Amino acid sequence: MYFKDLTKYEYHGDLEDSLNIGWLENGHLFNQGSVSEKFMDKLWGYLRYPVRIFRGFHTCDLCEKPNTGVPVVEYKGQKRKVGYYEMRVWGKDGNVYAAPSLIFHYILQHGYQPPQEFIDAVMDSENPDSDEYYQKVLAYSKGEDFWLAQDRTCI
Ligand SMILES: [Zn+2]
Repeated sequence: MYFKDLTKYEYHGDLEDSLNIGWLENGHLFNQGSVSEKFMDKLWGYLRYPVRIFRGFHTCDLCEKPNTGVPVVEYKGQKRKVGYYEMRVWGKDGNVYAAPSLIFHYILQHGYQPPQEFIDAVMDSENPDSDEYYQKVLAYSKGEDFWLAQDRTCI
C-alpha cells in the first residue's frame, strides 16, 4: 500500500484530517538516511497502542525474501507483531500523522528516513505511555479499548 509522505490520509475513505507517513511499497522511491536512537526509542512505544486494526495483514514487499506470516519487528530485545494496524502521532502544531505499523521495520531494515516534521512531531509530543496519549487513542477509537487495555502486539 503506497501513499506519498505528507499527503492527506484517505485510506479508508473516512474523513480523517491526518497526513500519511511511511506507506512504502516496492517500485516507489523513498527517502533514506539515518534517524536518532532517541527517535526510534519513542517510535517503538507507539506500537503498543494500535489504531485501525485489520483482520488481515500487510507484509513488507521491499524485503528480498517475502515474509508469508505476520511480520515481526525486534528492537532492543522486545518483539512486536506489525502489519495489521496503524499508529497516530498528534503533533503539537495540530497536524496528525498516520503511519502503518510497518514503518518501524521500514526504518530499521530499509533505511527509510521519515520527513523531519514527523520526526519533530514524535519527539515533541507526549510519550505514548502517558495517560494523555492513551486518552487520545481511546477517543480516536471511539472508546474501544480492547487493543489498548492489554499489550496485544507484543510477543
Ligand atoms: Zn522489509
